[in-house]
Amino acid sequence: MADGIASTPPELVDQHGRRKRKLRLSVTDRCNLRCAYCMPENPSWLPREQLLTIEELLRLTALFVIQLGITNVRLTGGEPTLRRGLPELIEGLQLLRPRGLQRVSMTSNATRLAELAPALKAAGLDDLNISIDARDPALFQKLTRGPIEPVLEGIAAARDAGLPFKLNAVVIRDYNDGEIESLAAWAFEQQVEMRFIEFMPLDNAQQWSRERVVTESEILQRLGTRFGKIEKLPRSSASPATEYLLGGKHRLGIITTVSDPFCSSCDRVRLTAVGELFACLFSARGSKLRDALRGGESDAALLTMIRSGVWNKEAGFAAPRGYVERPITMHRLGG
Ligand code: SAM
Ligand code: SF4
Repeated sequence: MADGIASTPPELVDQHGRRKRKLRLSVTDRCNLRCAYCMPENPSWLPREQLLTIEELLRLTALFVIQLGITNVRLTGGEPTLRRGLPELIEGLQLLRPRGLQRVSMTSNATRLAELAPALKAAGLDDLNISIDARDPALFQKLTRGPIEPVLEGIAAARDAGLPFKLNAVVIRDYNDGEIESLAAWAFEQQVEMRFIEFMPLDNAQQWSRERVVTESEILQRLGTRFGKIEKLPRSSASPATEYLLGGKHRLGIITTVSDPFCSSCDRVRLTAVGELFACLFSARGSKLRDALRGGESDAALLTMIRSGVWNKEAGFAAPRGYVERPITMHRLGG
């Protein structure tokens, strides 16, 4: 894999001095749910031949790990469990552990975990973030246009397979903000960390408005009333979430992309399923690594493209500007 290249210091940095350690790898744009905040009701899928093959995914990830010092890989999508060859991809990534890869994680809607969790664990997956935006079945159906039962079965399967997980919910005012307390109570009952994500101005349906964002302070206020004392935990560089301890025992995370963006410490980059490198979730365009790869470019040329795409990363995104027009939607970028 990516050997045979003159050794460079394994560091990927942007012009603002932020070192990148995490790669979000989208393995498909397809999904079996249609979360209203993420994708259109009738999406058109990318032709399969445009997606990076498992070999291409492994070759690019090897460059990121061995030559650029990436330590954490998160598989995402679309719904990553729909990708054929997912266990083989995870198995292939294990070869990078001696070369610096520390964690292989996945963000999933859990609908296929009842079937796949044991194979993913056996392949070497370390942990999961599972999205569940409501506990109420009718509300879950309204938000995701799918039933909640396969998700609950998938969560049980992840536990049975010994895969550690956190639960994630995007909170949208007048949709699921009434679920904050019940989702947290349910997660805490299972001794699982619950994380709430502020609604980002990247939804496909353009429903985002500042009024729809339920901010960290509002979430904390509601949870404080229900669970008692809230302690802020020291910020961990490993997590994009601000972490809290509720009532002295329950772990809670809040991803404050809108009310308190964490851009100044951003250590991640994103590769879409068609091999475009996005330095930021809010970037207008990406660097087309797949085209270079299929055009026969050398590893050295690919590294130059990656370094320069990341170097030019902007300082941060500007939520105050409002809805963000981009040529790419969340399910294609990987969230
Ligand atoms: N299908 C998987 C899932 O839902 O977990 C992985 C892909 S999904 C695009 C990754 C993450 O992006 C999910 O946690 C989802 O809730 C989040 N997401 C999608 N659209 C969002 C938005 N407009 N604002 C905030 N988070 C969003
Ligand atoms: Fe699918 Fe995840 Fe987007 Fe929901 S958030 S539509 S589960 S990709």
